[in-house]
Amino acid sequence: MGSHNPNIKLIVDGKRLDGRAFDQLRNISINVGVLENAVGSAQVIWGDNKVVAGVYGPRDVFPKYQQKPDKAFIRTIYSMATFASIEEHSRSGPNKRSQEISFVLSEAFENVLMVEKFPGKMIDLHITVLQAAAGTRLAAFLAGMAALIDGGFPLNEIAAGVSAGKADGALVLDLDKAEDNFGQSDLPIVYNSSGEIILLQMDGKMTRDELTESIELTSAKSKDIMDLIRKAVERKYAGEVKTELNFR
Ligand code: ADP
Repeated sequence: MGSHNPNIKLIVDGKRLDGRAFDQLRNISINVGVLENAVGSAQVIWGDNKVVAGVYGPRDVFPKYQQKPDKAFIRTIYSMATFASIEEHSRSGPNKRSQEISFVLSEAFENVLMVEKFPGKMIDLHITVLQAAAGTRLAAFLAGMAALIDGGFPLNEIAAGVSAGKADGALVLDLDKAEDNFGQSDLPIVYNSSGEIILLQMDGKMTRDELTESIELTSAKSKDIMDLIRKAVERKYAGEVKTELNFR
């Protein structure tokens, strides 16, 4: 998130700049089984974000000191392609931000995956943002979740998330680039299907009441996103989609 700028209007005539209602998400589309070499894979288009995920393993852990004797070690590597965004081009590639996002995603995936089924093994989840337009960590989580399901990995729960935030004083869901850059706060949250929070980060400020309302709104929307994952998997098995990358 950038700095709050009171001179930039993000709400005009009760609507957001892209015409969405306050609680309306950007369009989300998910396809699974898009990479031939991966055990499981998925592509996600979320607004103008384009993300692809491939999962590999389980395999022996290398380097060995990372091995966990009682469960799988999940290595999530979130990366942003060098061409993913224009304005911050020079900051893409591996950096502190991508390391942090990789870490929080790994922790969340450890919660959803039955890690105890693969003691001493490692599962590699590679997630690449090809085009970035705010909310990439949640689009990345979604792609990773869909890829794990596509790969048939045993799960405790399915999970999904969306961000809430404040733009021009209004509580809005699924911040776009302008709202992320110039709004007052950004709160990405991921829930499992039991409603537990498995990832929460916060940038900026909001009141306790706004936080409570954000949790109510985002938990309901994350259930809708979980349904989209289920439908994507059903479409693959119904043979209704070409299982190849297609970002049109
Ligand atoms: P998120 O993508 O999860 O919202 P941030 O809040 O860190 O994560 O970033 C907001 C947006 O700013 C990103 O979605 C992306 O559009 C852009 N951005 C941030 N950091 C970078 C970077 N290193 N390279 C390219 N774009 C970036």
